[in-house]
Amino acid sequence: MNSATDLNVLVIGGVATGPKAASRLKRLKPGARVTMIERDTLVSYGACGLPYFVEGLFSEVEELIRTPADVPRNVAFFEKAKGVAVRTGVEALRIDRDRKTVTVQDLSSRETEDLPYDKLVLATGGYPFRPPIPGVELKNVWFMTHPDHAESLVAQIEAQNLKKIVLVGAGFIGIEMAEALKLRGLDVVVVEMADQIMTGILDEDMARFGARALTGGGVELVLGEQVTALEGEETVTGVKTNVRSIGAEAVIIAVGTRPNDALAREAGLDCMERGGILINEYCQTSDPDIYAGGDCVVNRYYGGGAGGSWFVALGSTANKHGRIIADHIAGKPVPFPGIGGTGVVRAFNFNLGRTGMGERQAKNLNLDVETVVWAGPDRPHYMPDARPLLIKMIAGRRDRKLIGVQVAGPGDGAKRLDVAAALILMGATLDDVAGVDFAYAPPFSPPIDPLAACAHLLTNKLDGLAVSVSPEEALRRISGSHPPLVIDTRTPREIEEMPFPEETLAIPLGALRERLAELPKDREILTFCKVSLRGYEAQRILNAAGFDRVAFIEGGVFGWSV
Ligand SMILES: Cc1cc2nc3c(=O)[nH]c(=O)nc-3n(C[C@H](O)[C@H](O)[C@H](O)COP(=O)(O)OP(=O)(O)OC[C@H]3O[C@@H](n4cnc5c(N)ncnc54)[C@H](O)[C@@H]3O)c2cc1C
Repeated sequence: MNSATDLNVLVIGGVATGPKAASRLKRLKPGARVTMIERDTLVSYGACGLPYFVEGLFSEVEELIRTPADVPRNVAFFEKAKGVAVRTGVEALRIDRDRKTVTVQDLSSRETEDLPYDKLVLATGGYPFRPPIPGVELKNVWFMTHPDHAESLVAQIEAQNLKKIVLVGAGFIGIEMAEALKLRGLDVVVVEMADQIMTGILDEDMARFGARALTGGGVELVLGEQVTALEGEETVTGVKTNVRSIGAEAVIIAVGTRPNDALAREAGLDCMERGGILINEYCQTSDPDIYAGGDCVVNRYYGGGAGGSWFVALGSTANKHGRIIADHIAGKPVPFPGIGGTGVVRAFNFNLGRTGMGERQAKNLNLDVETVVWAGPDRPHYMPDARPLLIKMIAGRRDRKLIGVQVAGPGDGAKRLDVAAALILMGATLDDVAGVDFAYAPPFSPPIDPLAACAHLLTNKLDGLAVSVSPEEALRRISGSHPPLVIDTRTPREIEEMPFPEETLAIPLGALRERLAELPKDREILTFCKVSLRGYEAQRILNAAGFDRVAFIEGGVFGWSV
């Protein structure tokens, strides 16, 4: 290796992890020679902003490669401001680990050369999955991963006066693009193979609720249908599913990201069989002089050993990896704790997101968990901008450790996700969640923060005080041969404003104690209100009066999405 002052570091990939690692390294070790290779013409762009450009929130896609001080993050910027040599239009072809060189090719001249390294950083990212179906190569079919894609989509919407677009895939990118295009005035259809949106991210119940955001925003949602072909001669004219054909003037395919681990794999570095470079807590690969981070690696889940390896392609993680890599190379090792899988998306007026494990994931791992869905306003009801929110919380039944949180609704769910992400990282219990000193003032939150209120509810459930059923379970029982008596504890005005679709007996909570004699002791009773806080109180009143087959419906009318 060269002396410490001229440590030679080669970085492959120039979007998130690469520039972060290179720039921080130069700040820590100004004497290091850092070269970043990128096969594209652009570096350091914010792909996450593409949907908002398409929506029209800003008119120049170049905004995504500018600093807040309006300086373009291009080759000259990296050389002058960061001291990093950047070579664009240059592709890394192979790594020779014995000679510690990387063979690269200039994509214009086709010339190749071998670049030496002391430390190599693989920041090769991911690529969008291309479904093996006919028609993907037709005109007006886009994969939305690069500023050029967004720019050409917007240009074609205008030039061809496109009116109808079909999005394949209801994950983060599919949902963001659906919102963006609807807000741009197009008719939007989202086709998703699974029976729910955000598969693998949200549990089915939260996804069902979240789907309201899309349909409420005017998006047509087609669930449980697999796209088998894109139709058209030269330009796409429709999408064929296993059930029908849907006309389309344009199509966006957003069916997931795969780790771009080919270079590492060919160099014999350890990778997951199903994709993704394996790294340790300092982002070192199985070769200690080669680091990897961002979308090309698999991460360890930080919420406990049982979670195992997760592939989650997120810019938040990619940037953290860049810093971890630079710190380790510079001799300031800081271990990366892993990820919580935290992600959030805005779908019209909804926040939809999760951190940690979902109920389904936990149960697949045979973890003994309890869950609850809490509903309520995100700030006191008297504040004009109070908005409803649904929080699902998952915790270990025995140790009561927080395992996961999911949010859906117009209320500020992202803020609660962030707190929950930190708590899961710290190994918090439900008592810890309830004990957090949340900032309270009416413009921001109620005196008991929704996250704490949800933890209280789950604790009550674990203690046997709160007995609840999910909306799905409530409907199953209501539709069964011995349906329960369903008591609506809301006021007549609330009932008129927001009717409940099933047969109920209306008894406002304040009248329940006086009307106990009307109720049968030999029949199951379900209670609810707007968000089921009064539903829970009703359950406790009935229990105290000797009714023992009582449960409240989680989420109340607000959470009723079955
Ligand atoms: C539309 C969209 C919205 C998103 N929204 C969010 C969001 O809201 N929040 C969030 O956290 N994340 C979001 N993401 C994900 C985020 O953009 C990625 O996780 C992040 O860009 C990954 O960074 P990376 O550096 O690992 O890889 P990439 O961004 O994939 O960059 C890798 C680079 O390496 C280059 N490269 C690969 N192989 C070679 C080679 N052999 N030689 C030379 N160069 C090579 C590629 O050309 C590429 O430019 C979004 C992504 C998209 C597309």
